[in-house]
Amino acid sequence: LKTERDQQRTIMLVTAEHYRDTLTRKPEGAAARSYLQEREVDPETSAAYGLGFASERRDTLIQLLKAKELPLELAEQLGIIRKGERGWYDLLHNRLIFPIRDKQGQPIGFAGRVLDSSLPKYINSPESPLYRKSSVLFGVDLALRDIRQSGTAIIVEGYFDHLALYRAGIRNALATCGTALTDGHIGLLKKHAQRVCLLFDGDNAGRKATVRAMELCLEQALPVYVINLPQGEDPDSLLQKHGVEAFNQQVAAAKPAFEQFLHWLLAKTPADSIDQRVRLMDEIIPRFQRIKDPVERDLYLKEICRLLGIDPPSFRRRLAGQRSEQK
Ligand code: ATP
Ligand code: MN
Ligand code: MN
Ligand code: MN
Repeated sequence: LKTERDQQRTIMLVTAEHYRDTLTRKPEGAAARSYLQEREVDPETSAAYGLGFASERRDTLIQLLKAKELPLELAEQLGIIRKGERGWYDLLHNRLIFPIRDKQGQPIGFAGRVLDSSLPKYINSPESPLYRKSSVLFGVDLALRDIRQSGTAIIVEGYFDHLALYRAGIRNALATCGTALTDGHIGLLKKHAQRVCLLFDGDNAGRKATVRAMELCLEQALPVYVINLPQGEDPDSLLQKHGVEAFNQQVAAAKPAFEQFLHWLLAKTPADSIDQRVRLMDEIIPRFQRIKDPVERDLYLKEICRLLGIDPPSFRRRLAGQRSEQK
C-alpha cells in the first residue's frame, strides 16, 4: 500500500508532467511557447527546468487527478488545488509554470507567471508538507554540484534570472523567488559553499534584500560578496542586453558585501555634517557588530572611521554605548 507521502509525490510528478505536456505538445501551449522564445529560453533550458504551462481552464488538474484516482484532499494539502464555494479549482491557470524541485529533482511546488503584464505577475504554491519554504531554494537540483566544485553559491531573486545564468553557463546559482533569505537557507548554503555571492536586482528592493541577506551571512560567519547591478537591471535583463562577457565582468567585480553596504550608504547619505555622521554610525553599527572575524572587524573599523572622518576611539565609544543600550 502506498503511504500518503508517496501519493503526494505521485501527485506532484503527475502534475508536473501534465504542465510540461501542455507546454510542449498541446495547441493551448502555443502562446507560452512563443513567450519563451521571446525571452530567449531555448528548448534545452526549458527541458532542464521542466517548464510547463497551466491552461486557461480551472479544472484541468481536478480532472486529471480524478482520472488517475488520486485523492483531491492530498492535492489540496500540497496547495495546487483549492476548494471554493462552487467546488474544487486549480491554483494556477493560464500561466507559465516553473516546477520548484528538491535536491533530488522531485517537484515539491509550482510557480506560475502570467504571459502578459497582468497582476499578480507570479503566483507560488504555498508552504506544504513537501515544500518547506525556509529550506528550499530554486535551482538546487541543477546547481549543487557546481556550488560544491566552485565553493561559491550565487544567489539571485528570480526564476528567469536563474534560467539566464544557466544558459550563460553559470551553473552555481540559486534563486530566492520572492521569499526573504532565512537562517534555514544560510544553513543549507553553509553545508555546500564556502562563500555566497548576492546578485539581486538593481533596485531599492534588491538592495534592501542584499543588506538583509548580508546580515544573516555575517551572523553565521559565511563569507558574503555582492555583485552590484546597474539601476533597473536584473541578471536576466543584463545578460539579454549586454551578453555573457559584460556580465562576467560584473561577476569579477564582486565586492565583499560589507564594503558594498558602506558604499551604498554613503552614496545615499554623504558624511558631510556632524548630524549625518552620527546617523551613519547608527546605521553601520548594528551591521558591524555582526562581523565575527576580529581581523576583518579591525580593518572595517579603520575604513568606517576614514569614510566618516571620525577617530576610532569615538567609534568604539558609540559601539560600547549601543551595546549597553541593547540590554
Ligand atoms: P520577470 O523577469 O519574469 O518579469 P522577475 O523575476 O524579474 O520577473 P521581480 O519582480 O524582480 O520579477 O521579482 C523577483 C522574484 O520574486 C520573481 O522571480 C518571483 O519569484 C518573485 N515574485 C515577484 N512577484 C511576485 C508575486 N506577485 N508573488 C509572488 N512572488 C513574486
Ligand atoms: Mn526584483
Ligand atoms: Mn527581477
Ligand atoms: Mn526579470
